Amino acid sequence: MQTLLPEVTAFLSRSPLKLYIGGQWTEAVRGGTFETRDPGSGRVLATVAAGEAEDIDRAVAAAERAFRQSGWATMPANDRAVILHRLADLVDRHRDILAQLEALDVGKPLPNARDFDVPNAAQTLRWYADLSVHTRRREPIAVSGFEARQVRHPWGVCAFIFPWNFPFLLVGWGIAPALAAGNTVVIKPAEDTPLSTLYFCILAEQAGLPPGVLNVVPGYGETAGAALARHPGIRRMSFTGSPEVGRLVAAACGRNLVPVKLELGGKGAAVVFEDVDVEATARALAAAVTLNAGQVCCTATRWIIHRKVYEPLVNKAAEVLAGLRIGHGFDDQTQMGPLVSEKQRQRVLGYLQRGEQQGARPLLPGGPATVPGHEGGFYVRPALLTGPTDNACWREEIFGPVAYVVPFGDEAEAVDLANRTAYGLANSVWSRDLDRANRVAEALVAGNSWINGHNLFPHGVPYGGCNLSGCGGGVLGPDTFLDYLRPQSVVRPV
Ligand code: NAD
Repeated sequence: MQTLLPEVTAFLSRSPLKLYIGGQWTEAVRGGTFETRDPGSGRVLATVAAGEAEDIDRAVAAAERAFRQSGWATMPANDRAVILHRLADLVDRHRDILAQLEALDVGKPLPNARDFDVPNAAQTLRWYADLSVHTRRREPIAVSGFEARQVRHPWGVCAFIFPWNFPFLLVGWGIAPALAAGNTVVIKPAEDTPLSTLYFCILAEQAGLPPGVLNVVPGYGETAGAALARHPGIRRMSFTGSPEVGRLVAAACGRNLVPVKLELGGKGAAVVFEDVDVEATARALAAAVTLNAGQVCCTATRWIIHRKVYEPLVNKAAEVLAGLRIGHGFDDQTQMGPLVSEKQRQRVLGYLQRGEQQGARPLLPGGPATVPGHEGGFYVRPALLTGPTDNACWREEIFGPVAYVVPFGDEAEAVDLANRTAYGLANSVWSRDLDRANRVAEALVAGNSWINGHNLFPHGVPYGGCNLSGCGGGVLGPDTFLDYLRPQSVVRPV
């Protein structure tokens, strides 16, 4: 077992942790708090101030002030980029601390947080800082009879509401383009996982971000989240989470005519053709569905497998999944950690039960798991199901280590099966025949199609969903940066 770094212990001992508004650590106006737990043991990690509407008002006011007065919005792009690079360097330098906080709060294996989540967020800061330096904000438009140009300015206060599965990485993906463009931000982290976002504020201060440019108000969704979404002072809203809450956020923004970016759930398919390396593909899909204990919006939860390789592939995947070492994120042997909360565990177990009631057959029965020494943790075993495609476990997002497997006979049937979903986030195609793989990848209706891999997020490639998986432009691409700049035409007759 890894032991806690002294810096992590010191940070947690500041409990109750406060809100970060206008560069100050402050209690919630109404004095409320909530607990954040280690899902691997069920133990309380810290108590955190629970922001409510009054605190959101304070945070938006501080962000507005910083937008008008701190110089952040008006400084040359390269000066802002220097600060964001410094922040990325600080994230790298505090990588072990951030990774411990993230692994503890989410329950994920420590190496995942250290080698992926934290450095990825630093990389996002750098990527948008660099892009901002090279983006033109004043472009002439050639039209006869007029002198015309388009200029781009930051919008003002941008609001962010995040989920609990990749709290730190998603903060990076979300706010890096907004900050690089010169906006100020207010973040409402998920109530299950506020720690790494709060620690990030310490680094932002050290990097030289002016007070009020970054504000973090932890709290419950129905109070702090809803207050942020309906706040008339925000100029853009970005929500990452479930479609159910996404609808509420979009409705609130609609009333204020605030543009909204929704990154929602998914029900990703992996379409596997008969010419694959069966063992390697089985291992890759098993890894995909158990990454972050299956709590990944875009992961492969519907496996559509050619009849010729269906049986050996499913058998191999079941063998790999059954042998997976489930444990605490701080245990060096752990390959899959717990789910984030008891609520999430009950959701996953409920789906397994409902799936079976509706006619699904378990190829590998999942269920609750107990980890010796960590009996209070929220563990489950991975599951593989098969059956008819009108099953809830095929149609709905479970958000746990569960895949629903069906066979197919030809390419058209595979595409039809994959597209039989209300979601549209990400799918993968597996084949040695790259002509076929490319053809199928383009025929799948979703924001992202991956070939011979799943969960691929290179910076610079836009990532976003369609239909029930989201709208409003996505993240990670160059266009996301433009989303955070307000276009304005300036025209004069000549
Ligand atoms: P959730 O929708 O329950 O909560 C997300 C956030 O919204 C939390 O911060 C929560 O406090 C807040 N919230 C809850 N009610 C609110 C309300 N009435 N008004 C405003 N905010 C409110 O989602 P979750 O359970 O935290 O996360 C899982 C979901 O997130 C899954 O559906 C997953 O697919 C999705 N997700 C999507 C992406 C993506 O990039 N598309 C990435 C990660 C997670």
